[in-house]
Amino acid sequence: MADRFELIIRGGSVVLPWSIEALDIGVRMGRIAALGVSGTASAAEIIDAKGLTVLPGLIDPHVHFRDPGDQAVESIPSGTRGAVLGGLTAVFDMPNTSPAITDADKLERKQAYVERVAWCDVGLYVGATKGNIAALAELESGRGVSAIKVFAGSSTGDLLIEDDESLERVMRAGRRRIAYHSEDEYRLRARREFFHVGEPYERHAEWRDEETAFLGTRRLMALARETGRPAHILHVSTAEEFRYLKDFREIATVEVLVNHLTQVAPDAYEALGGYAVMNPPIRGPRHRDAAWAAVRDGTVDTIGSDHAPHTRAAKEKPWPDCAAGLTGVQTLVPVMLDHVNAGRLGLGRLADLMSAGPARVYGVVGKGRLAAGYDADFTIVDMQLRRRIEESWLVSPCGWSPFAGMTVRGWPLFTVVRGQVVMREGEVTGAPSGRLVQFL
Ligand SMILES: [Zn+2]
Repeated sequence: MADRFELIIRGGSVVLPWSIEALDIGVRMGRIAALGVSGTASAAEIIDAKGLTVLPGLIDPHVHFRDPGDQAVESIPSGTRGAVLGGLTAVFDMPNTSPAITDADKLERKQAYVERVAWCDVGLYVGATKGNIAALAELESGRGVSAIKVFAGSSTGDLLIEDDESLERVMRAGRRRIAYHSEDEYRLRARREFFHVGEPYERHAEWRDEETAFLGTRRLMALARETGRPAHILHVSTAEEFRYLKDFREIATVEVLVNHLTQVAPDAYEALGGYAVMNPPIRGPRHRDAAWAAVRDGTVDTIGSDHAPHTRAAKEKPWPDCAAGLTGVQTLVPVMLDHVNAGRLGLGRLADLMSAGPARVYGVVGKGRLAAGYDADFTIVDMQLRRRIEESWLVSPCGWSPFAGMTVRGWPLFTVVRGQVVMREGEVTGAPSGRLVQFL
């Protein structure tokens, strides 16, 4: 009797953890049941992936969906819709919302809400404050919690832990890897007076300079080693940090943002003005080249979009009053596929950085690789398809992208979450069925 599956993906070039192979994948009960399926096997649904590349479900481990907050900017429903249209099967959402996710009550409300409205699977960060340190050990083991997030330098929102004594107390509360925004708050404050309202937007990279980021990372590494608490340094942006962090691999993992791999100063500021302003800033070519070298030599563990929408009015204010943060959840996969086609990284490394990487760093259960028994999460892409990124394609209510107008080669055609096709050739299909990601 022929095998029967719920879904078969036929004819694709499949990016396995160990090689890229031409094989058919069978899915049952939302999981990968077979890598290699006979020609006579049948299924309720078949995806013809001939000429396409089947990647493990790609994860954006760094998004700000502003929910609870301002629905006119972004929300969990719109953000996760953008995610699946852009080929992502899971996102991890940051806690600097309004109000911020810093206690059990707010976490519980967000957990229940996500499971009602999300289009993809979702992990949730909990924010550390000087007032909730005693509760962090319990909060970090909550359902769907990807990690505790610490803002060691100030960015959007009011979460901030800037002093070594409080940082050490946070590190001693709990055991899982902590995700850090690493910029030295004291240096930021001390240098603020040298800059004036209305100066060119590229001054952002001078105020929040290399040493601001590097000093923050040196302080965090000293404390992480002392306490033995694993650290994930988000959006590493300087050549100095990439070099330094290689000596802390026993305690530290590294994220780089698609922006720091793609955009460069001063061009980005000249072309985009306030729409190039983010924290840490877009810097010069020396740092972008160092980020690519760190991708190639394995220093980098994960790639994120740091999707951080704001209204156009907030972005168009003069520097430094303009809001910092760029959108990117929907464009992350297309832009990275374009980098693959440009020869900057291979498909295997892409899967490592965007699926296995987040799974390894955050301790995700059942995702991160195409293997029997794992969740049937797939990002199926056409590596030859050329498309221009149009603002009209974006579903984020804020409506803009720093990548608008860019023509890319490589585009996601299907997004499959636990066996359900949630995006097919640019259309979202079915109903929101996202779940909380499970963590160790
Ligand atoms: Zn962020």
